[in-house]
Amino acid sequence: MCFITLCTLGIKGNPLSGKIHETGSLNPIHRNGLHLPSQNEEIMFENKAGRTELSELGEFGLIEHISKAIEIKNPETVTGIGDDAAVLNSGTSLTVVTTDLLIEGVHFDLTFHPLKHLGYKAITVNLSDVYAMNAIPKQVLVSVALSNRFSLEAIEELYSGMKLACEKYGVDLVGGDTSSSTSGLILSVTAIGMVAHGSQVYRNTASEHDLICVSGDLGGAYLGLQVLEREKKIFLENPDIQPDLSNNDYILERQLKPEAQMEIIEKLNVLGVKPTSMIDISDGLSSEVLHICHQSGVGADIYEDKIPIDPQTYDRAREFGLDPTVCALSGGEDYELLFTIRQEDYEKIREHVDISVIGHITEKNSGVNLIDKSGKSMMMKAQGWDMLLKK
Ligand code: ADP
Ligand code: MG
Repeated sequence: MCFITLCTLGIKGNPLSGKIHETGSLNPIHRNGLHLPSQNEEIMFENKAGRTELSELGEFGLIEHISKAIEIKNPETVTGIGDDAAVLNSGTSLTVVTTDLLIEGVHFDLTFHPLKHLGYKAITVNLSDVYAMNAIPKQVLVSVALSNRFSLEAIEELYSGMKLACEKYGVDLVGGDTSSSTSGLILSVTAIGMVAHGSQVYRNTASEHDLICVSGDLGGAYLGLQVLEREKKIFLENPDIQPDLSNNDYILERQLKPEAQMEIIEKLNVLGVKPTSMIDISDGLSSEVLHICHQSGVGADIYEDKIPIDPQTYDRAREFGLDPTVCALSGGEDYELLFTIRQEDYEKIREHVDISVIGHITEKNSGVNLIDKSGKSMMMKAQGWDMLLKK
């Protein structure tokens, strides 16, 4: 049973309206990463030489392993696995393509995620990867796997959210696939974008002395999730108690209905600033800084006091006994952009309120460090969302 109606969300300026449908209960949610059921049943495959647990590799290790065995054959494939999106040469311009899976019980919880918001989010998280290549999204394809638990009206809600996002970002929904599912709702969205030859921005092209910037603010989506999970727990224990979501509008919207950073890309273009590298922040700031540094073969110094955190995020983190900086570093799902610029471009972005300079790129041997508020330097690690340390 869904305990939130769109009205109780109280999201200001919320373009979504309507009633959500009952969607049944489900397991606690897990995000970002591999959560494979520990099954003992026989899985048929040819290589019986040994068994390597996927948990030994982790999500990024697995992707790296898969990509090693993949060979690019077509000259039109400019960039394959490894960035926010693949880059393809389509003649007069470049095409970027990216795809993401959203799985019930792993990426979303329908007890508190209204279907309309979920549809909106399914689109925007994909567009975020297109913008992270400095490209403009043009089309999306949407595949759904569902059970008879969903009515036509429920699916209409889901698609009305998708439609709203498509309208806002100027993209066309051009296809997909539909299947039945035995284990909850599964959404797969593929986004296609365009960028002029030479304007694409990769993760692996940051250079020493570049400034490290982030758009917007961080940690809000994670705190929104904490509020929703707290209220879900209270609700399940006592369904008569109304969820208390007051004074959490901003962080709830960050979690349930995130936006992609279209305006930042447009602004940088107008200012004549081409980032030297870029990635979107889906897994938390530290994970993304490490991706840029590892792939570019550089180090970085990030200053804790420069990391942008909204006051509501800050206050809620303190209430939950969490360190707001750790929420920004490891929380994830903020869908802001992390990018590097040349020092000479600093004056052009200096006045931009939605862009914060949080550090600079150093040489590889200096490592990737966080300089805390007292000036102490510590090595930055990519902690999973579930590793958030209580302070
Ligand atoms: P993002 O967080 O930006 O969506 P991911 O970490 O999911 O990026 O993926 C990183 C890169 O690995 C991308 O180029 C993506 O297309 C590729 N990738 C992820 N999973 C697979 C897979 N199962 N097979 C092939 N490529 C994959
Ligand atoms: Mg990405």
